[in-house]
Amino acid sequence: MNSAPRFKRLALIGFGLIGGSIARAARDQGLAGEIVTTARSEKTRARVKELGIVDRVVASNVDAVKDADLVILCIPVGACGEVAREIAGHLKPGAIVSDVGSVKSAVVREMAPHLPADVHFVPAHPVAGTEHSGPDSGFAELFINRWCILTPPEGTDPNATERLRAFWAALGARVETMTPDHHDLVLAITSHLPNLIAYTIVGTADELAQVTSSEVIKFSAGGFRDFTRIAASDPTMWRDVFLANKEAVLEMLGTFNEDLSKLTRAIRRGDGEALFEHFARTRAIRRGIVEIGQDSAAPDFGRPHEQLGKKPG
Ligand code: NAP
Repeated sequence: MNSAPRFKRLALIGFGLIGGSIARAARDQGLAGEIVTTARSEKTRARVKELGIVDRVVASNVDAVKDADLVILCIPVGACGEVAREIAGHLKPGAIVSDVGSVKSAVVREMAPHLPADVHFVPAHPVAGTEHSGPDSGFAELFINRWCILTPPEGTDPNATERLRAFWAALGARVETMTPDHHDLVLAITSHLPNLIAYTIVGTADELAQVTSSEVIKFSAGGFRDFTRIAASDPTMWRDVFLANKEAVLEMLGTFNEDLSKLTRAIRRGDGEALFEHFARTRAIRRGIVEIGQDSAAPDFGRPHEQLGKKPG
C-alpha cells in the first residue's frame, strides 16, 4: 500500500482501454474503498462483470456517480458534455469530477457549464495508449512512466488538483499541469497530427492503382507497418479528437504542409544537402525521446522479435 490518498468510492463512466486500465491499476494500488463502473452497452457491462475487476457494475451513469468521491469519465470526447449534464444533479458535494479525454478545451467548454459549484472539476489526459479498445484491452501498467496532464480551470481548489495528481502518480504516471489551450496545441503536434498522417498514408496506399494491396502488406516492414499500427486506432475516438481540436490541428497542419513542400522541392531539385541536414536533425529528436525513457532504443521500436512472424491466434 502507498501513501496516496484513498477515495472511498471511485466511479468510472466508460470501461474501455483507459477506464479498464484505471480500474485495474487503482485496484492493484488499493486507491479506492469501492470501484463502481458503468458502460453504455449491456454487452460491455456484462463483460466487465465477468472480468471481476470492479466491485459493482451499474446500469446507468446516474447510479454510478451516487456517493462517489472521485468520478472519472472514460468515454469519447464528444460524449462528455451530454454525460456531464446527465450526472450533474446526482453528484456528491465535494466530489472531484475528471475525465481522460485527448482534447481539453472542448471538454472544459462542454462539461463545466453543467457541473454544480460544490464539486471540483479537474480535467485530465493520460498521454498513454495503444491501438486497442474495449473492456479487455486495459492493463494496470499502462500509465507507468507515462505523462498525465491536468488542466484545472482557473479558480479550482488546489487541494482537489493535488488529490488527483497524487491519484495519477500512484497509478505510475508523471503528472504535469497546464492550461487546456496549451495542452491542445502540444498534443496537436505530438499526437493528433501523427495520427492524421498515419490515417492518410494507409488510406493512400489502399487506393494506389500501380501497387497492389498484397504488395503493400508483403513489403510493409519498409516503414508502412508502423503507420498501420497507429491507423488501426479507434475511429470514434479519433473522429471526436479532430472535431474537438480543430483550430490547433489546422494550425499545425499549416506548418506541416509548408515543411512538406520544402522537402518535396529538395527531392525535385536533387538537393541532397537539404535532405541530409533535415534527416540528421530529426534523428537527434528520436535520440532525445529514448534518452528521457519515453521509448526503447531496441531495433524496431522495442518490438519483441520472438513475436514476429507468428500468426495471431
Ligand atoms: P474505448 O476503449 O473505446 O472505451 C470507450 C468507453 O466509453 C466504452 O466503455 C464505451 O461503452 C463508452 N462510451 C462510448 N460512447 C459513449 C457514449 N456516447 N456515452 C457514454 N459512454 C460511451 O475508448 P478509450 O481508448 O478507453 O478512450 C476513452 C477516452 O480516453 C477518450 O476520450 C480518449 O480520447 C481518451 N484517451 C484514449 C487514449 C487511447 O490511446 N486510446 C489515450 C489517452 C486518452 P460501450 O463499450 O458500451 O460502447
